Amino acid sequence: MILFERITTYNRKEISNFILEVFKQYNIYNKIKNHSIILIKPNLLSISDKQEAVTSHPLIAEIIIDALKPYYKGKIIIGDGAAASYLDMKKIFIETGYDDIANRNNIELRNFNTDKHMEINGIKLTSLLKKKPFIFNIAKLKTHMLTTMTLSVKNLYGLVPSKYKILYHSQHSDPKSFSEFTVKIFKAVCPQFNIVDGIIGMDGNGPSNGRIVEPGIIAVSDNGFALDHFLCDFTDISIEKIRYLKFAIEKGYYLGSYKIEKDYNKFPYELPSSNRFELIKRVADNKFIKKLVISYPQIRNSTCRKCMNCYNICPENAIIIKNDFPFVRQRKCIACFCCIEVCPYDSIPLKKGFIEKVFNV
Ligand code: SF4
Ligand code: SF4
Repeated sequence: MILFERITTYNRKEISNFILEVFKQYNIYNKIKNHSIILIKPNLLSISDKQEAVTSHPLIAEIIIDALKPYYKGKIIIGDGAAASYLDMKKIFIETGYDDIANRNNIELRNFNTDKHMEINGIKLTSLLKKKPFIFNIAKLKTHMLTTMTLSVKNLYGLVPSKYKILYHSQHSDPKSFSEFTVKIFKAVCPQFNIVDGIIGMDGNGPSNGRIVEPGIIAVSDNGFALDHFLCDFTDISIEKIRYLKFAIEKGYYLGSYKIEKDYNKFPYELPSSNRFELIKRVADNKFIKKLVISYPQIRNSTCRKCMNCYNICPENAIIIKNDFPFVRQRKCIACFCCIEVCPYDSIPLKKGFIEKVFNV
């Protein structure tokens, strides 16, 4: 079952009413009883103001905490690991508003990037999972240059400590392999409850440098695949473009349909530009053909502030320093777009592939 509400601003009363109703319908108070820890897992990708649509809005987490506190005597933790270890999590918690919530409610903030790890199904994840927390997985309604959309399933990549994030990006360099890997993480963790914050969202070249949009929706489900499927329908993005959902269906993790109890008007999203020529990319195993169609990142020196985030995150060492600026060596680049994700100054546009240039698309 999926529940959603159309809410156009971060209004405490409206969101609270929805969350309390949801808690009732999903019998949340009963479900948390046997868990000594509750983990609230927002999307805290990078240092970003809550209005920039990069991170899950802290008000939703605070409303959940308010709803839990009178009935729950265990420990509540808010945790995430940003895109890379050199991104200061302390600063991210402060800038995104989660530090304030933690202080007000006496709650622990946890940086999964530097956490000890454990293995589930061969995947390295935060050792907090050993304690089997009840997880509120709060994702943001955003596009993603590698996985097309980042919703509840992709949000759990934040549970991977940073050194393994880089390794896994390198091991799963193409969009298909990476998308499938996110499903494996999701299945290993199985969060009990998923929430997608689409009051303000991001389309185009998300997850950090896209266009801020106002879909005006918050949606929840205990089935993350179904929730993501619904939000793709809502944003008018065909499930055919969402490899991880297709993989989940193929594997039998998700039946491919969901139940929703009210009508809605769609809010069409613009796809990331990396999605162009998807079909050719999918069928072309040939490196030469791929080079013709794949867009690669190119650093724009005029706006680059030399923070070196891109240089530090690149899993393939494809970025070198040339004339004092970072420079992408296309030959080594695997088009994972991590550099674009972490650039705080939107200074890494995609350079069109040969075919795009010729046909001017
Ligand atoms: S240059 Fe950017 S897109 Fe290419 S491999 Fe490095 S991080 Fe990934
Ligand atoms: S391109 Fe962006 S991430 Fe890379 S050094 Fe310049 S400002 Fe920093």
